[in-house]
Amino acid sequence: MKYWVYFVAKIAVVAVPLFGLRLLLDVIWPPLPSVYANFKPSRFAYDLPYTLAVLIWFLLCCGALSIAVWDQRYRCRVCLRRLRMPVETGSWSRMLQFGRPRIEYICPYGHGTLKEEELQISGRETPEWKPGSEDFWEELCASSKETGREP
Ligand SMILES: [Zn+2]
Repeated sequence: MKYWVYFVAKIAVVAVPLFGLRLLLDVIWPPLPSVYANFKPSRFAYDLPYTLAVLIWFLLCCGALSIAVWDQRYRCRVCLRRLRMPVETGSWSRMLQFGRPRIEYICPYGHGTLKEEELQISGRETPEWKPGSEDFWEELCASSKETGREP
């Protein structure tokens, strides 16, 4: 829940200056006087500088939205910190042994890992978020118990 609230808040913070910029466009190019009783012709698609300005504003909106989504994708689902330490796993030449190549990001506080496929053949795939266990030390000790050594 906190993850999505942060995303919505980020979108709202980005939307306020973009909405202000849109209002600024209306100040620079005021609406045309009405031709008939209530009909006001639109400048969009008839006035080239205004149309270009709206196009640039639209591209700014798309860029801001994509940056917000990209940033949100690489955040921890629990503490919202940026995921760190990308590790490449797998191998194309030894795919049966190690699996397909992917990049794993971890939360520095052990809340989980994000596994993202390196090559996305069938479109954009959603990265897999795997929450970490409650006890961080249990995972570390489990790897040493498999080898027979005690920490
Ligand atoms: Zn975290």
